[in-house]
Amino acid sequence: MSNTTTKRQPIGSKAALSFANDDLPEIKREWIPVNATLPAVPLPEVDSVLGNFPGFRTVKIKISEDPASKDQDLARIRHVFENHPGTQIRLDANGALRVNEAIEIIEELGEIKLQYFEQPVRTIGELSQLREEIARRGLATKIAADESIRKVSDPLRVFKEQAADIAVLKVQPLGGIASAAAIAKESGLEVVVSSALESSLGIVQGLYLAASLDNLNYDCGLWTQNLLADDIIAEPLEVLDARIKVAVPEIDLDKLERYRVTDDREKFWLERIERCRKLLET
Ligand SMILES: [Mg+2]
Repeated sequence: MSNTTTKRQPIGSKAALSFANDDLPEIKREWIPVNATLPAVPLPEVDSVLGNFPGFRTVKIKISEDPASKDQDLARIRHVFENHPGTQIRLDANGALRVNEAIEIIEELGEIKLQYFEQPVRTIGELSQLREEIARRGLATKIAADESIRKVSDPLRVFKEQAADIAVLKVQPLGGIASAAAIAKESGLEVVVSSALESSLGIVQGLYLAASLDNLNYDCGLWTQNLLADDIIAEPLEVLDARIKVAVPEIDLDKLERYRVTDDREKFWLERIERCRKLLET
């Protein structure tokens, strides 16, 4: 396949096909530590959002996409730091900042040491520039790449250019558990297994990736299913002490019917999966 765009477009479908048809990897651990996620909510809502994540040890705080909200972002981070002592704090800006804005946030946080800062800036060039600036100022903040891995034609470019310290790996955009595991190995970096907002069935694929890795140094971003109003599995995933048990859940067919997409949407997905299956065979 020579056309990279065509090849990457149905990549989520590749992950779905792989999960449906391939053997699951050998697992090295049965419980996966996971982190809480705090979206860019107003300060008075912070505690109720964090209440969804009993016993969390790590929280990922989303930075607002509007740089004018920097003061609110800093207030949320300080609130978590002061009210949840000992919690590891990581930030995620989804590439919304400029290099100088990211540096300002790191410097203004002062004594609040971040576990890492995920995709503070958008491009691989900016990530490199930010890392140089961090080193030049004697700061120690680690930079993680997310969009720079999953939204580019070469997921390994960010590592070849030494633009990140940590790789955030998501099974679905990287084409499945085995393909994400291969990128983890090739990157040679520490990895964080994460997901977008997925049903539990999507989350489970991330759990298997995390369970199959030799080293798992960071809590995984695989605890977002409880942010959804409902799910499509019979029993919720087993969560204990901010860890999720690795197991394939049973699908609830009634719920699958209840949340069924429109006929048009279903047709779109079936055609896309079929197109993907053919591409994978060539
Ligand atoms: Mg992210």
